[in-house]
Amino acid sequence: MSQPNFYESVSASISKAASLSDIPKGLLSQIKVTNAIYKMSFPVKVGKGYEVITAYRAQHSHHRLPTKGGIRFSPHVHQDEVMALASLMTFKCALVDVPFGGAKGGIRINPKNYTEKELERITRRYTAELIRKNFIGPGIDVPAPDMGTGPREMAWILDTYTSMNHGEIDATACVTGKPVTQYGINGRNEATGRGVYYGLREALSYEDDMKAIGLTPGMEGKTIALQGLGNVGSFAGSICQNEGGAKIVAVAEYEGSIYNPDGIDIDKLLKHRKAKGTIMTFPGVKKLKKNDDALYVDCDILIPAALESVIHKGNANKIKAKMIGEAANGPVTFEGEKILLKKGVMIIPDFFLNAGGVTVSYFEWLKNLSHLRFGRMEKRFDTRAYDKLVDFVLKATGGTISKREREFLTKGADEIDLVRSGLEETMISAYKDIRSMWKRRSKVEDLRTAAFLVSLNKIANDYISMGIFP
Ligand code: GLU
Repeated sequence: MSQPNFYESVSASISKAASLSDIPKGLLSQIKVTNAIYKMSFPVKVGKGYEVITAYRAQHSHHRLPTKGGIRFSPHVHQDEVMALASLMTFKCALVDVPFGGAKGGIRINPKNYTEKELERITRRYTAELIRKNFIGPGIDVPAPDMGTGPREMAWILDTYTSMNHGEIDATACVTGKPVTQYGINGRNEATGRGVYYGLREALSYEDDMKAIGLTPGMEGKTIALQGLGNVGSFAGSICQNEGGAKIVAVAEYEGSIYNPDGIDIDKLLKHRKAKGTIMTFPGVKKLKKNDDALYVDCDILIPAALESVIHKGNANKIKAKMIGEAANGPVTFEGEKILLKKGVMIIPDFFLNAGGVTVSYFEWLKNLSHLRFGRMEKRFDTRAYDKLVDFVLKATGGTISKREREFLTKGADEIDLVRSGLEETMISAYKDIRSMWKRRSKVEDLRTAAFLVSLNKIANDYISMGIFP
């Protein structure tokens, strides 16, 4: 459950970094403050009666427009939570050079308690409220999926927006994370999880850093404990296992947690949960007593991919992992982090590690604005160029290759190839920026502080170049 102090915890981390920067005080206050928040209550027909729904949209920073961030459906949604999440979006976008301000929305419902029709009515009504107050639009504020929402909800938002903004040529860019068949982009669904993989792989590649925490470099063979099998956790776990060669040894979900030191096949587990509704009947694993027990198992990397504030001062000491990859937003509290840093645990911060979602959202927004699918112009041209190159090499060497080998060597990039390539590049270069800040400045003791400093400097420069601050 989300803690009431989530906002304070995020603010404390920002202040810790800010104290090491030379950004003037006035500008710092402007960067920290939430620029606009809209709280709404509206009635929706549920069952035979009506229910009053409470919802929010917080726009943390207007220094770049549109603002950007997901919409979550969760019973724990409250103002502090959306404000904290919106501010993390500002720092996330700056860090990965996505030219947006941060925002986040939330509707206080448990989506499991509503029918599809009811969820559609709630989503459409929420969108209408945003339109009325000018809180949505391709150049204003662009929502996306978050906890409890996905492509289906984004399609409802798109339809409500376009039907109320007839003739607006860029209307499809009013929301991202849409189904691929409805102006979405290939690779958005897996993007956050895939970004987690690229980010961890990069962090694990530095021999010195790994030596300092008692690990060998590389992801191959690393043991992982994973909390949460939602969109982020399932893709992160599966890609780390299949492309990185990591071994998932423990998994936690609502219904409980399971452990197998020899590895749990994550793809089989996902299929099992889909069919049976639980992970607890998966064959060949040890059932752990409580669902947070998976956090405390012996492993190299712990990936919390569920809720905020799950690792705090009350349980941080029990963590045995040498590295924590924060796939969720805010899974480690400020106080929890102090304990972990003292123990020498390396924490890869959330607003870097889960930035893959908003990065690919940016690609989707660009695709919508350009009205052109990535790869459409160059794919055949590239294929022909590679063909000529292959012919040249074969002629020079006298070699031959099969048709399949030629296809493999000469394939031009499809949209998915370009999206993955852009995401990989984004995660690698952002990590290099954070790491060099961390190594360069002796007072910067951890990666979260380094990441906040990188973002703070970029945001401050934006304000200065706008001429607002001297
Ligand atoms: N909700 C995701 C996040 O927390 C994605 C936001 C987006 O794509 O705009 O980063």
